[in-house]
Amino acid sequence: MGTAGARFMVMKQVAASGGLYLQEGETRLAMDPGPGAVVQYARQHVDLTRLDGILLSHRHLDHCGDVNVMIEGMTEGGFRPRGTLFCPSDALDDDPVVLRYLRHFPRCLIRLQPQTRYRLGDLCFTTTRRHVHGVETYGFLFGTSGDGDRPVLGWVTDSKYYEGIAEDHRAEVMLIHTVLARSRPELPHLGLDDAERIIAEARPRLAVITHFGTTVWRAHPQEVADQLSQRTGVEVRAARDGMSIEL
Ligand SMILES: [Zn+2]
Repeated sequence: MGTAGARFMVMKQVAASGGLYLQEGETRLAMDPGPGAVVQYARQHVDLTRLDGILLSHRHLDHCGDVNVMIEGMTEGGFRPRGTLFCPSDALDDDPVVLRYLRHFPRCLIRLQPQTRYRLGDLCFTTTRRHVHGVETYGFLFGTSGDGDRPVLGWVTDSKYYEGIAEDHRAEVMLIHTVLARSRPELPHLGLDDAERIIAEARPRLAVITHFGTTVWRAHPQEVADQLSQRTGVEVRAARDGMSIEL
């Protein structure tokens, strides 16, 4: 539902910022609905009243700008309470991003914990350790069977690089939030250099870079993805707005 990461890309809507949408069987999950998410869902003809859940990786605006209107959409303005909201505690506590008046609209409100397994209909996912990102942030592994198989999808959300980040998100397909062309010690975001280390170490079947900041955008995401493919020997694609992947 969008590939824009960080404020300048979002403010100017250089790319859309609606986050990700995941469907497994009859279960539908909206992830990180940033500013304009409702517009993107409408454009892609995804009926919000059929959502089963909304998941926030963290409380930064580019990940949750539309969470309140998405909750209203899922629950038909609160007239039909349904679905589950998953989010870190600091999205609910002081200076909350989830408005109080609509917190009882979803049937369930779950405060995410690190390294914990959750189920939503046909979907199951596990949170990673807390990311290095200032606010409470988690990465996610989807489709973990629990019997030693590789998870289907590893979602590397916003973080500074840390030892073990590749292992924490190792999966068949890995989606990596790559905000910076080159990582910078003072910024808690991944650069293309970090993405390369993660891909080289985790060796997924497919890696997809997304959540682009301005510097990655200017470097042309597909071109940098091709370079990453060549250097790592792993298929790397750059996400595009509206792109869908069969997992
Ligand atoms: Zn962030």
